[in-house]
Formats: sequence, structure tokens, C-alpha cells
Amino acid sequence: MTRTVYVNGEYLPEADAKISIFDRGFLMADGVYEVTSVLDGKLVDFDGHAKRLERSLTELDMASPVTMDELLEIHRELVRRNDLTEGGIYLQITRGAPADRDFAFPDPEETPSTIVLFTQVKNLANAPAATKGISVISIEDQRWARRDIKTVQLLYPSMGKMMAKAAGADDAWMVEDGQVTEGTSNNAYIVKDGKIITRQLSNDILHGITRAAVLRLAKEAQMVVEERGFTIEEAQQADEAFITSATTFVQPVVSIDGATVGEGTPGRIALRLREIYIEESRAKAI
Ligand code: PMP
Repeated sequence: MTRTVYVNGEYLPEADAKISIFDRGFLMADGVYEVTSVLDGKLVDFDGHAKRLERSLTELDMASPVTMDELLEIHRELVRRNDLTEGGIYLQITRGAPADRDFAFPDPEETPSTIVLFTQVKNLANAPAATKGISVISIEDQRWARRDIKTVQLLYPSMGKMMAKAAGADDAWMVEDGQVTEGTSNNAYIVKDGKIITRQLSNDILHGITRAAVLRLAKEAQMVVEERGFTIEEAQQADEAFITSATTFVQPVVSIDGATVGEGTPGRIALRLREIYIEESRAKAI
């Protein structure tokens, strides 16, 4: 089946979808994005993603070409047209395509934002990584200082994934001033003596939508949560480690820089959080 994508108001076969070479997303990474997961043909936490999108746009003084209600409708229409049961919807908004390349932002009255959405089929609930656990390496965090804005500047995270791959690992945790910030495309956690530890929110990390849900669910299940930074050494000596993101949900981390975490198998708390997160997501998806 040919994938149907959405570009600036039109639903098109993917091969017919076109963007200008002057688009600032292409020339300057002047754009923001969101990924919303789909379970049972329904959107998981659409509201959380829509709110974060609005915040990213506001922080960059970028106009949204659609209202959040229209955005929900576009997401649903793409799910319908592509018969998507499980996977994700990628959304990107850029500052549009001015007449020429220029560092200054174009006048939004003359240059409307560009909006693109497409579906991605992916096995989420039964991903093998969830039962096996993943291995991570540590790398220096060399990203810009506004990681709370979900921009499309993903070159360093891509390089991080390649560094992990070259080392035979699945992903990389980034470290700044001796403490873990987050994974290349996920938030990072450890568990010690039953306590869930994850870095506090600031401009240093992306405010994960899955992070917010998982921490709320952990507290509702009477688990103790401590929001603070931690070092790689502390993580290697933890009882468990795990990551969260919209498309991985909760995935256990079983090795860090070659050192086994806990028993070297997915931890009990990580697996329990994954279970309750999927259960609630299925129940509340729209
Ligand atoms: N941190 C980074 C750097 C990410 O790219 C992502 C995924 N987009 C996350 C955290 C997790 O965020 P979410 O739970 O909203 O997918």
C-alpha cells in the first residue's frame, strides 16, 4: 500500500509530496517536531504532544499553520487512510520557505509555516527490546543548550546512535558535567533500593511526554520517585536502569559501558512500569 502523507493542507501519496529547497527546515533545521504513538489504531497522549508542540512553537516564535483541533483531525485521518494499527505519527512544522536563504526569520505574514505529517508502522507493545533489555554507552552531551525545545536539529543524537552502533551497543546516554542528561532519543532512569531516579526537568533535557505519564503512574502505584541527576558510575551500580519515549514506552537497560546493571536482565520495576503504562495508554488512547 502506498503511504498517504499530509503536506500543507493536502493528503498525497508519499511520492507526490514536495517541499521547497528554500524551506528553513531543510536549510537551517528551523523546525520542530512531535511523534505520537498509535496503539489499536488510536492516539496515545495526543494532548500531551499537542501541548508540548505549542510550547516548542512559542519558544521559537513560530506560527502554527493549524489549530490543535485540526491537528487531531489530521492525525486521525492519516491513521484511517493508512489503516495504521500500531506505530507512530511523525509531525513537523518549519518556519516555511522564504524567497531566498537568509539568517533573519521571514515575515510570517508572507511566509507561512510548512507542516508535514506521515505515519510509521512499528511494533511497539511487543518490541523484542522490552523483554531482552538494551545496552547503552556513555558519550559527551554536545548538543545546544535548549534541549527542552523539540527541534529537528538531530545531527548529534544521530551521531550518538552511530557511536553506540560502532561500540556494539543499542543506544547512548549523554553526559554533561559528570551527570547523565538523557538518551539520544529518550529519557534515562535508574532504580536503587526501590527508588526511581531521573534527572529533574530544565532546559538541559526534553520534557518527555512518556516521562510525565510514567512518573505519575509510578507515584500512583506508591513507588518513590527522586528527580535528580546521576552519574554513569551510580547507574552501573544501580539495581535497574531504563529509558522512556513515545515509541519505546519503557525499555529496560541491562548494560552501561559494558558493565552489567543488576542481574543483567530486565528489572522488575521497569517491567511493571511498562505494563501499567501500556495498559493505561490503551485505555485512554483516542
Ligand atoms: N529525550 C529526547 C532527546 C528525545 O528525542 C525523546 C523522544 N522524542 C525523549 C526524550 C522522550 O520524549 P517522549 O516521551 O515525549 O517521546
